[in-house]
Amino acid sequence: MSSALTSIAVYCASAEGASPVYRQAAQELGQTLAARNVGLIYGGAKVGLMGAVAEACLEAGGHVVGVIPEVLVDLEVAHEGISELHVVDTMHTRKALMSEKADAFFILPGGYGTLEEMFEVLAWQTLRLHNKPIVLLNINGFYDDLVRFLDHAVAHGVLKPKSRSILLQVETVAQAFVQLQQMGYTCG
Ligand code: AMP
Repeated sequence: MSSALTSIAVYCASAEGASPVYRQAAQELGQTLAARNVGLIYGGAKVGLMGAVAEACLEAGGHVVGVIPEVLVDLEVAHEGISELHVVDTMHTRKALMSEKADAFFILPGGYGTLEEMFEVLAWQTLRLHNKPIVLLNINGFYDDLVRFLDHAVAHGVLKPKSRSILLQVETVAQAFVQLQQMGYTCG
């Protein structure tokens, strides 16, 4: 199979993170997407790691599409300088549009919002609603406990091994692209 990935959705924290390592990974991802000519789809905010990935992608000449619900624009966190900003009515519409526009999903460190977005695309894939790669970027071991929990869920028979295997895991931005290429995808 060979399939070209032209847009990747990145789910990540609206907070900065306690370690500069997370911001560096977000910036590296933004720069890499631009260098590979792969569009960034993200939550449209200028704050936290979300802002860092978008800013780095823009500065490197990349194409950045943000999808943000009206309520967050009003809180003045929308990034006005990106290539396309879609203002939608609800969080549900936002997630639907982001997932529809993306050819793959990358997850950087994040909180509830990030985890919700990741689990939604995972759950949808178990239901065969899409077949787009979902890559967890376990930067600095941030997601080690989550990975252990998923294995625990398999061991306890409530998560099927086949469903568990949907989530691809890497430790660096570079590995994420190598992993996709090994699976037959081309990224720019
Ligand atoms: P969290 O990990 O809880 O910070 O949530 C970040 C994720 O949820 C992002 O990928 C966004 O799509 C969405 N999100 C949460 N908070 C915001 C915000 N203030 N502005 C824009 N998007 C947000």
